[in-house]
Amino acid sequence: MSFIVIASGLIAQKTTVTVVIDPGHGGTDPGFLSENTKLLQEKELNLLIAKQLGAYIEQNLQNVKVVYTRTDDSFPSLEDRVYKANAIQADYFISIHCNANDQKKVHGTETHVHSLQSKKSVALAKEVEKEFSTRAARKSRGVKDSDDREHSLQVLKYTSMTSVLVECGFLTNDKESNYLNTTYGQEIIASAVYRAFRNTIVQEFTSIDFVKPEATAAKPKKEGAEDTKKSPTEKYTIQIMSSKEPLNMSAESFKKIGLPVSRTKLTTTAAYKYLYTVGTYTTRDSAKEDLKMVQSNGFKDAYVIKID
Ligand SMILES: [Zn+2]
Repeated sequence: MSFIVIASGLIAQKTTVTVVIDPGHGGTDPGFLSENTKLLQEKELNLLIAKQLGAYIEQNLQNVKVVYTRTDDSFPSLEDRVYKANAIQADYFISIHCNANDQKKVHGTETHVHSLQSKKSVALAKEVEKEFSTRAARKSRGVKDSDDREHSLQVLKYTSMTSVLVECGFLTNDKESNYLNTTYGQEIIASAVYRAFRNTIVQEFTSIDFVKPEATAAKPKKEGAEDTKKSPTEKYTIQIMSSKEPLNMSAESFKKIGLPVSRTKLTTTAAYKYLYTVGTYTTRDSAKEDLKMVQSNGFKDAYVIKID
């Protein structure tokens, strides 16, 4: 029995998770082309959303390595993309695409896996679609496998890790195409995929600490904490609005932000005594990162405030 113990002791503890982000198409392959030349081509949207996803991962998580199959308007072959992911022994492969359909009314998100038998890929795909349909408020068309779809997904078939291909919406649907062509839409989509990825790795790799010290800022320092000798930690939040009467916290406009909103009642004689804020941050810069998203999600006048 003892050799089993010894053998398992030799397996190096995994300390980093590697994700390959694959912006679909590129270069001479534009993917779907809209008739309206003012709108971005699929390859451009894929790259924007993919880079935003990578940025969210790098800003908010530690011990995760992000590798892209392309970061510019080039076209790595499908074989190259697969080869790269397999060669570096990535743990996850996330391909980003936008969809098209002959019928203009078809809209919504889809996340593809090679086979419904690959449990880990299906779990990640389900998580992505869950985030799309809940906090991102998109229409989810669900998880699809090779039996459902119309085009070949080589990148899913030959990659040897957990792999999904996300179809962020239909460029043939006017409303969805307009949405995907806004920074706001791209950020909501990217943040949904980010949350799904984060939730998945946190569950799978319980021994790795993914939480960046500054990303844990959500917890305000308790008063009288031991380290009061140090310079007091600064705290920031994003104020989105105020009101005279308490508003319903499950309002659609709050949900659209994609981040939890807190309501605080001020002990003041002022009329607007209910304050609505998002997040707690230890630096103004980290608050500003989310501020952009909050502003583009309907609260244009939101701003960062320092909490005393
Ligand atoms: Zn595509």
